[in-house]
Amino acid sequence: MIAMNAFDRFWDDTGRQALDALERVGRSGWYVLGEEVAAFEAETAPLFGHRHGVGCANGLDAIEIALRALGLQLGDRVLTTPMSAFATTLAILRAGGKPVFADVDERGLIDLSLAEKALRADRSIRFMVPVHLYGHSLDLERLKSLKERFGLKLVEDCAQSIGASFNGKAAGSIGQIATTSFYPTKNLGCLGDGGALYVSDEALLKTAKAIRDYGQDSKYSHAMLGLNSRLDETHASMLRRAFLPKLASWTENRERIARKYLQGLTHPGARPFGAIQGSRSVWHLFPLRVPKGRENLMQHLKAANIQSGIHYPLSIHRQKALEEMGPFGDFPNSDRLANEELSLPIHPYLRDAEVDAVIAAVNTWEG
Ligand SMILES: *Cc1c(COP(=O)(O)O)cnc(C)c1O
Repeated sequence: MIAMNAFDRFWDDTGRQALDALERVGRSGWYVLGEEVAAFEAETAPLFGHRHGVGCANGLDAIEIALRALGLQLGDRVLTTPMSAFATTLAILRAGGKPVFADVDERGLIDLSLAEKALRADRSIRFMVPVHLYGHSLDLERLKSLKERFGLKLVEDCAQSIGASFNGKAAGSIGQIATTSFYPTKNLGCLGDGGALYVSDEALLKTAKAIRDYGQDSKYSHAMLGLNSRLDETHASMLRRAFLPKLASWTENRERIARKYLQGLTHPGARPFGAIQGSRSVWHLFPLRVPKGRENLMQHLKAANIQSGIHYPLSIHRQKALEEMGPFGDFPNSDRLANEELSLPIHPYLRDAEVDAVIAAVNTWEG
């Protein structure tokens, strides 16, 4: 089976170092918020163009904590995309915000012209959570211009884009805060849940650290209400000693596979999305647009022992959990993507022969 992920190969490659890291934490007797988390935060902050990191329990919490640290008040409007993991919108709601959606462009990322239109139409919007979806960086120059012209507090959701850049600048570096996730399937995954936020401002750093730890500003002193959302020492240690050293080569593998796909795929009914000019993608996913017969192509691939995925099958504004909060408006591009998108396997342990097999299977689809 050519699967979307290959955790057996991942563990063959990194398990020894991960077990050494676990042994080190176990022996140290210090399991929560210690040296491993601090070192991992410092080592990963530059990947997002920031000075500091705050390890959290997961990527969902990281966004909620970021918005709360930036002063979001109950009912504040937050501009975001309807095409993402549900967690992006859920975090906005959990922080007390009200999501406002701007439709996506033909590549599935938030359309910054439509975002600008939404900001002009509603001058009360002061927060924005854009998502660097699929591993592609949004146009950071346009994002920066929106931030400055509309005085936005910006949280860049980098859960799928660790290491991505735009004209040499790191995705995550424009917003006051960037967030990411170390969920196992992400480009830098751990053995369970984990996440982080990244900041440069010292006051924001202090507030975010307090919120992740019951709102404590010092031991047993609670200036605000917080969460319990800490990255474990065991995860931080495995991440920094076993997995982070591999990230650059993993990203190179993803890029190589993407190039092979872009060169090899010829089926007119299953086209890769266009490239974003200036974006260096880290290819978290490899999406195709299949306007007709997506289910049929999935079955055809399955018959050839190839797994595929859909990211995502329902635009967030149509999710049942949001039913009472709408209507949010119409987002035809997001709806169309939900019906047409198909993701091919692109994990770093995919072998060349497997990539060739996927290309051959797609190209011979009679759809
Ligand atoms: C995975 C993901 C999240 C949530 O991260 P968790 O660690 O699973 O909570 C948020 N946003 C995007 C775009 C994601 O892909």
